[in-house]
Amino acid sequence: MRYAKVIIDLSSREVDKCFTYSIPEDMQINEGDLVRVPFGHRHIEGFVAEITETSEIDPEKLKPINEKVTESIILPELIELAAYMRRKYSCTSADALRVMIPPQLRGSKVREKKIKIAELASDAETAQSSCKKAGLQSEVIRLLEQGAMPLGDIEKAIRGGGAACRALAKKQLVVIKDSAVRRAPAIDEGGRSCFDPVLTAEQSCAANELVNAIGSGERFLLYGVTGSGKTEVYIKLIRELLARGKSAIILVPEIALTPQTVGWFHARFGELSAVLHSRLSPGERYDEWQRIKNGEAKVVIGARSAVFAPVEAPGAIIIDEEHEGAYISEKHPRYDARDIAAERIRISKGVLVLGSATPSIASFMRTRPQIRPENRLKLLELNQRVLGRSLPECCIADMRTELAEGNKSIFSAKLQRALRECMDDGKQAMLFINRRGHSTFVSCRACGHTVKCEKCDVALTYHQNEQLLICHYCGAASKPPAVCPSCGSRYIQYFGAGTQKIEAEARRLFPDRRILRMDMDTTGEKDAHARILETFRRGDADILVGTQMIAKGLDFPDVTLVGVVAADTTLNLPDYRSAERTFQLITQVAGRAGRADSPGKVVIQTYTPEHYAIKCALKQDYRAFYSMEAAYRKKSLYPPYTTLCRLVFSSGDADEAANAASQALKELKDKLDEQKLTRDILSINPGPAPIKRLRGEARYQILLKAYTAGNVTAVERIMEELSGQGTRKVNIDFEINPANMF
Ligand code: ADP
Ligand code: ZN
Ligand code: ZN
Repeated sequence: MRYAKVIIDLSSREVDKCFTYSIPEDMQINEGDLVRVPFGHRHIEGFVAEITETSEIDPEKLKPINEKVTESIILPELIELAAYMRRKYSCTSADALRVMIPPQLRGSKVREKKIKIAELASDAETAQSSCKKAGLQSEVIRLLEQGAMPLGDIEKAIRGGGAACRALAKKQLVVIKDSAVRRAPAIDEGGRSCFDPVLTAEQSCAANELVNAIGSGERFLLYGVTGSGKTEVYIKLIRELLARGKSAIILVPEIALTPQTVGWFHARFGELSAVLHSRLSPGERYDEWQRIKNGEAKVVIGARSAVFAPVEAPGAIIIDEEHEGAYISEKHPRYDARDIAAERIRISKGVLVLGSATPSIASFMRTRPQIRPENRLKLLELNQRVLGRSLPECCIADMRTELAEGNKSIFSAKLQRALRECMDDGKQAMLFINRRGHSTFVSCRACGHTVKCEKCDVALTYHQNEQLLICHYCGAASKPPAVCPSCGSRYIQYFGAGTQKIEAEARRLFPDRRILRMDMDTTGEKDAHARILETFRRGDADILVGTQMIAKGLDFPDVTLVGVVAADTTLNLPDYRSAERTFQLITQVAGRAGRADSPGKVVIQTYTPEHYAIKCALKQDYRAFYSMEAAYRKKSLYPPYTTLCRLVFSSGDADEAANAASQALKELKDKLDEQKLTRDILSINPGPAPIKRLRGEARYQILLKAYTAGNVTAVERIMEELSGQGTRKVNIDFEINPANMF
């Protein structure tokens, strides 16, 4: 008799353990299968975690598995990974397994796509001899002489050909078979050659270190300035892995924003590559998943969740633009793909590569010698752009002096001059501003009233094209008021600038130039991102205006000018990472300039040129920024020295939310006391959340700061459990080092 230990697919903590079932003699069950089992009075699905020959429980008392639902739905190594997630993120094993498997793969909704293929049963002559000379059937036979063909294509070539083909099949002159077809995602090859270039000395050096580490479980941070050719280093590593029969996973922050990267990998690895992301249709996802699972695709490119791709013992996991917030899931379990990758690599003895031109402070800190070896990342550097190209020349436009000199335009004299030169040279420019819409707030000059969203405690943004005020938090739209809703005055004014205003101003200055805008409002449709980027790359536009969407990983050879229109927007956010974000954004967007033969220029417009984030970005000096920022984090006790944990209580009823928060606060303090964790805690701050009202709900928070060196996991577990006490009336969210503290 064989037995199966099964993880029941229920996310309740009470059943978060393995249950043993007996395997009926006539059933083939393996680790990783999805099965249906009797559970209480019900029948529930579960994952087979382990097969044993003996059972600690009296076999008489064991119930048998009902049936196998899906064979090997999960790799055994991912079951091991689920155990890690359970410890690290205080979730149940079922929660962990659920994020690993796309819902479409469970049950039977999506299957292989089959189409009908027609083929001649014997030679064409025999077939022709048994039908009319000039008829449709004869035409079809002539078509099929060239080889088998899908019925749909026959119909397309010959009207009525499908029916004629079926008639031929009845006469047994033609056979019609089902054939599986792959639903392949559309991929933009991105305009790069499909040959591997000769690596520069720096690139070879980094690539060799990675290649030497194959099979070792080593972890690296590849810090390479913008345009230093990190992608080619990854590709070199992957080539070596493939030669040794291994696979690799490459994560990119957001597929829609990096269609080029996907294209480059596809151009180099062709059918050996697969892509996984949320915009795939269920059918496309199913097919890509199958190709990965059966080993046909060995190079998997995807967004965050592709870290769970069913690649057996991945030889490497590469995380490009590792500093991006997109690698942390915003849903429970709030996993960080970088941590998951590190653990998968430990299990498979692969190579972990985190790559960036602006590494996160936390990751760079892990390359320092004082870090414990088991947490350390080995630093690899690319300090030069490829082919002797230089980093763009950056300059500051001090907007305070501009104003003093009477320039009220959103473009400084410097930026206007640079734009004109760039246009006259027939080159392309990118204008970056981190806000969409036209004016970022509307307020009354008579009484100072700012127009806010009815449901949220935030100012509304004016969108000129739609002529609406839009809330960027809940999406509510309304007509701009003609008079002040507070005092009735007609002196309503529009302040602040967003992408729409920049676009309008650029059109005014350059009426004969083609201008494109890329932000959330212009990229609603499925392939809009790729379309805009492709139009710009082809040279069918001269200026691209955009939000952070245009700051990432793009490689346009004709862009020689980048304008950072308002460098201070992110700097003024009430968040300990505002300096880091500002530095990253400016450096990344500046890095889009001068990537080919013509040198690049960057104009940074700011009201605070003395701020270190701006000064370091101006010099594109990551190390200088890192040492200033690390010192600030240490002095102010911010992450990574500490860990910020937050519980957010939201409810339609403000009192309910406040009560739930004070109740939880009491419980939290008791539990911390009980478990003797108080000395690991730096502060606990209860109160209203920074945005007090959102989508009509009141919001309260408990913000806790703990020493990272202390027992943070235990503290997190307590808070995670408290977040499970939400009710129908009060929703409780738990976040660790939240990406947005609103
Ligand atoms: P990064 O990601 O570091 O900013 P990319 O990988 O996008 O840089 O490479 C920048 C540009 O340099 C790309 O156009 C790429 O094709 C080119 N490139 C990279 N390595 C080489 C090389 N060894 N020889 C020639 N061109 C290269
Ligand atoms: Zn007013
Ligand atoms: Zn709102």
